[in-house]
Amino acid sequence: MAVPSQILAATSNPNAKYVESIDPATGETIARFESTPLSEIPAIFKRAREAQREWAARPLGERCAMLTKLRDVIFENREEVIRTITREAGKPRTEAIFAELLLALDTADFLSRRAERWLRPERVPHHNLAMKAKSGRLAFEPHGVVAIIAPWNYPFSIPMTEMIAAVVAGNAALLKPSELTPWCGWLARELFRRAEFPTGLVQVVQGAGAVGAALVEAGPDKVFFTGSVATGQRIAEACGRKLMPSVLELGGKDAMIVLGDADLEVASSAAVWGGFMNCGQTCISVERIYVEQAVAEQFTQLCVEKTKKLRVGPATDPDMEVGPMIRERQLESVEAQLRDAAARGAQILAGGKRIPELGSNFFEPTVVTKVDPEMKLMREETFGPVIAIDRVASVEQAIERANDSPFALSASVWTGDAKRGKEVASRLRAGSVMVNDVASYYGICEAPHGGRGASGWGRTHSRLGLLEMVQVKYVDVDRLPRVAKSWWYGYTQELALGAERLVEFLFAPRRARRWAAMMQKGGARGVIFRGDRI
Ligand code: NAD
Repeated sequence: MAVPSQILAATSNPNAKYVESIDPATGETIARFESTPLSEIPAIFKRAREAQREWAARPLGERCAMLTKLRDVIFENREEVIRTITREAGKPRTEAIFAELLLALDTADFLSRRAERWLRPERVPHHNLAMKAKSGRLAFEPHGVVAIIAPWNYPFSIPMTEMIAAVVAGNAALLKPSELTPWCGWLARELFRRAEFPTGLVQVVQGAGAVGAALVEAGPDKVFFTGSVATGQRIAEACGRKLMPSVLELGGKDAMIVLGDADLEVASSAAVWGGFMNCGQTCISVERIYVEQAVAEQFTQLCVEKTKKLRVGPATDPDMEVGPMIRERQLESVEAQLRDAAARGAQILAGGKRIPELGSNFFEPTVVTKVDPEMKLMREETFGPVIAIDRVASVEQAIERANDSPFALSASVWTGDAKRGKEVASRLRAGSVMVNDVASYYGICEAPHGGRGASGWGRTHSRLGLLEMVQVKYVDVDRLPRVAKSWWYGYTQELALGAERLVEFLFAPRRARRWAAMMQKGGARGVIFRGDRI
């Protein structure tokens, strides 16, 4: 597997600072990347702005064709993508393919086909008779240079889907990957380079939070941030000071509601997968399960049995299902929540411990019951391999508990009755709700992703996500350029009266009154065909 040249640079620049790519399964440093000096950021912006001007002037069809080329380059380099993700993020190979590679390929393919239709100027027909002599259009213009600040948990698919949308809309993209996954960030940009996108259009800055903060301070035209609530708040403040728009994709505490008529075999498999994929380090992981009393015993038992069968180990073994957590501090925060829950009477039915014989970052997939809404486990994001099962007396109580959270990212409802599922979905406070599935909407290019409350604002993916990448400009062309407008100066009592008649003509409840308002002397007709403007 090719090692990025940044590793070699380590010996050539003695003053450089580095971010290290560490294999979370072994703790071994597998690559080093030069941290971007803050002094270089202005030059990075200059290159991006120059490249963006030329890029935005290219026809949309040409930009779409470049996405097709990018898709092909990602496909050709897919093994490198999969291996980099499994090594640097500790993700099982199957997940690196399904949740990372596939998303990037599909987004490039999807937007190469759709962006032209979605971003071409759109006619705006006017409903008001008085405005019929004008023709309106919406134009979708790029912001300019967008900053994409990414987390480590989906280190390839999150930045790639955003960068693809950014460039097809005519922007330059500056990516700041997580300092925990610099190699994936490097590779994301490298694929654009291999696809021969213009130099400077897509760049990556490496480093920790200070580099991300400096990127925001440098004044991009929009910030797309994915990460924790605490960092999101800092970024929102910085953007607020500069009146810069932002999209914030923050944490989640997803609820799963299991109704009495659900298929418990399927629902329990979904709970286990939804809670433990990527070792539970997913913003849309299942973290809270509310199951109706009548089926709670059976459902819990199935979850415990299935959890105990999971194969935990390094992602380099393709048969492994649950890999390591990213860093030890992540395990510590999960342990703290479990301790708090146990002290308040929760019962751990499976897992709950580290697996030191595998390495310092491995933790057993864990099932907890006898939880209550006040436990940290039920209120704060866990971001680890833990599912907490709460028995509820009714669907009403399930909805109430699911909605009792500052987070509102996604949720799921499990039932044999799709109509009932949709009805429950309509009452859940979340950016998206799946009926009889979990999380997979993230892989549907047509589905928007994003949350409310502490989960952030704005959307990525889908047409709505693409529209976040543009400024909307309304352009209006008058069809009667030689006619001065009735509402311009030359105000008289007669004109005011005529204006009143016009209002009556447009809005009087009775048709006869409207007609009279138009035709009578001094009526609306006089305003429309007014000849005494100055
Ligand atoms: P984080 O907030 O620690 O870091 C995210 C990124 O922000 C990193 O690149 C980091 O270097 C950068 N950063 C840190 N301080 C900064 C600052 N002051 N200014 C600018 N950038 C700064 O988050 P993380 O630990 O990498 O990611 C995990 C979190 O992300 C979880 O809460 C998870 O739920 C959330 N997440 C949300 C989504 C979503 O779509 N809603 C997706 C994935 C992850």
